[in-house]
Amino acid sequence: MGLGIWSMHFIAMLASHMSMEVTYSVPVVILSTVPALVSCWIAFYLVSRPPVSVKRLLIGAVFIGTGIISMHYIGMEAMQIGAAITYNPVLFSLSAVIAFTGSLAALFLLFRLRQLTGFHWQKVGSAVLMGFAVIGMHYIGMAAATFTPLVDHGHREASSINSLSLGYTVGLGTLLLLILAHNSVRIDRRISAQTDEYELKFQSVIESAKDAIIVTDHKGLIIQWNQGAERIFGHTKETVIGESLQVIIPERIRKRHEAGMTRYFDMKQPRVIGKTLELEGVRKDGSEFPIEMSLGTWETETGVFFSGIIRDITERKQADEKISSLVYLDPLTGLPNRRLFNDRLDTLLVRAARDQQLFSLLYLDIDHFKLVNDMLGHAIGDQLLKEITERLLHQASEKDTISRLGGDEFILLLPETDYTQASNYARQILECFNKPFHFSGEELFITPSIGISLYPSDGQDAETLIKNADLALYRVKEEGKNNFQFFTNKMNEEVARRSKIAIGLRKGLERGEFTINYQPQIDINSGDIIGVEALVRWLHPHMGPISPGEFIPIAEESGTIIQLGEFVMRNACLQNKAWQDAGLPKFRVAINISARQFSQANLCGLVQSALTDSGLEPQYLELELTESSIQGAASAVKTMNELKAMGVHLTIDDFGTGYSSLSYLKLFPINTLKIDQYFTRNIHLDMKDAALVDTIIRMAHNLGLNVIAEGVETDEQLNFLKERSCNQAQGYLFNRPLPAADIARLYGNPAPAGI
Ligand code: C2E
Ligand code: MG
Ligand code: MG
Repeated sequence: MGLGIWSMHFIAMLASHMSMEVTYSVPVVILSTVPALVSCWIAFYLVSRPPVSVKRLLIGAVFIGTGIISMHYIGMEAMQIGAAITYNPVLFSLSAVIAFTGSLAALFLLFRLRQLTGFHWQKVGSAVLMGFAVIGMHYIGMAAATFTPLVDHGHREASSINSLSLGYTVGLGTLLLLILAHNSVRIDRRISAQTDEYELKFQSVIESAKDAIIVTDHKGLIIQWNQGAERIFGHTKETVIGESLQVIIPERIRKRHEAGMTRYFDMKQPRVIGKTLELEGVRKDGSEFPIEMSLGTWETETGVFFSGIIRDITERKQADEKISSLVYLDPLTGLPNRRLFNDRLDTLLVRAARDQQLFSLLYLDIDHFKLVNDMLGHAIGDQLLKEITERLLHQASEKDTISRLGGDEFILLLPETDYTQASNYARQILECFNKPFHFSGEELFITPSIGISLYPSDGQDAETLIKNADLALYRVKEEGKNNFQFFTNKMNEEVARRSKIAIGLRKGLERGEFTINYQPQIDINSGDIIGVEALVRWLHPHMGPISPGEFIPIAEESGTIIQLGEFVMRNACLQNKAWQDAGLPKFRVAINISARQFSQANLCGLVQSALTDSGLEPQYLELELTESSIQGAASAVKTMNELKAMGVHLTIDDFGTGYSSLSYLKLFPINTLKIDQYFTRNIHLDMKDAALVDTIIRMAHNLGLNVIAEGVETDEQLNFLKERSCNQAQGYLFNRPLPAADIARLYGNPAPAGI
């Protein structure tokens, strides 16, 4: 614009035909650019910065007007002609007014109305007005000038140029500059258009994001806040811009946040920048919620900026919690399940090893829980487990873990407890079961059994501690339940022995390590042998003789009893047949049938096959069943009826030790009751036991049953039994269990050895 004013002047000077030769002083010509350029620069600087006010436009117009006028009159001064120049003051003033008003109108059009549509036309209009201002001023200025020829012919300076060449130089130069200026303006425009486009894209991306996008400056003041942020945090953009980021940070972590910022500025070492963190945020209403935040930073000339992309992860957290509760909690009781328990135990093991702490582990099992389920239904069983959980929780402290492993098994982890504390705790648990549970109006008494292992004495890893507590629990169960026991190393030895026996049983059957002894059963009145009881014997190659009292329960547990039972059944039948064939008087052989054998599907088939294969008549076979085995089996009556139909003799062994009701005596087709040796032994020690034996004998006789007493060792016992009309007796008083050959010898018949 400055150059435009300047070049207009010198080109226009060509148009005015002077009667005299005109040259120009180059330094003054150059000087004349100064007011044009400076004034335009000041004017545009003023009016192009928002907000554009009338006052500024006026000042701008004054500058441009002054620029035009001073350029013109300095330009006139550059003329070197042989004439003196005088100015008409009116026209001079007029030229100044035109320069000022033209500029004002042009500026007004350009800047005040730029926001209106049709901006191009205003630009053109503004240019035309500005042109008028410049041209109008020039020609009126020229009209104001009077050239009076001087007598003294003016001298020409060395650095002068004639008007024609000046005109062309200025014109071309200006044209060139205009082209350059135009191009640079265009490039500038394009760049700024691109910047605008980026800015728009950026804004659109930011605004359309579901997440909160927040930018702060180095002081932590918010300078960008999108709709996502508005939605998540509840603050509107207008209220939050310029505020500290602290508005979204919960009170309790504000200090930490500040410290983090300070550390970042001090060390410039990002700890959280570029990472995604899970934190807590606070909404406008003060409520806190979980957020996930990714932080970024950048630095420009104006300073450091931070950007945060923040997501509300409340839903995700809830889903996580739900999943982890499915994975880690027992759905029935809400207690930690085995997986979570294992995690806690592992953590505690690490801590206890580091801090040299003790802890104890209690394995708890509800006694006879299966009965509750069977008799009252699973719904009541579940309800009971929940109430047990409540009682356990009631007496647990915060640091304890109570976990349900499944079924009726619970495991408790008590950090920082020693032997005494653990036993007190176990005692309290037993006590809290003293009160009955109430279900549908009925009182239910339930007891627990608890096995305890201590860290580090009973194990230093999870598996050993659990196993040992379980062993201790097993021992409690064996010894009558409703109690607690600590693990001892002896239990381990016993377990080792049990597992040796379990393995040895199978091998022993294959290697023929089992034999059968027979204990005679005597008719008390006649003293005759009426039968023998087959009792299995095992001579283990390394462990020596093992009592059936020890290995039969293990064989029952492991299932080997099926093969062992078949072995005894077949061999006892063959043996009895061999005695008969050898001419011995005929008597029964009694075989013990364990619970598992009895409930096995083909017991009748096995009995039939043993009889057929040996050729023994069924009336010489007797089966000894225990109360518990016939109570437990659903099809007991059917099986017993089938056996009875085959002609086999049936006896209830160990009578009086089971907990069963007596009504089954009427239901079951049995021939004999065998009084348990416990009662026999106590006949003369305990009046009550004596009374019981008496009662059993009477009852059996009333029901038409035969009675045999086992474990008779003394004459007193025998006499007592005789007085009460007990039918038969068996015991050391008569014979110990004997090898088959010895039975034959009893009859003075040494011929047939055992089969
Ligand atoms: P049970 O059926 O009650 O057998 C009687 C047990 O008492 C036998 O012990 C026998 O030796 C012992 N006994 C006999 N008379 C006396 C006596 O006067 N005093 C004392 N103190 N004990 C006497 P054993 O042979 O050790 O058998 C123990 C248990 O093992 C048996 O108890 C029986 O339940 C089981 N059992 C033995 N053999 C077999 C078998 O072949 N099959 C099955 N399923 N169980 C068997
Ligand atoms: Mg028996
Ligand atoms: Mg017995």
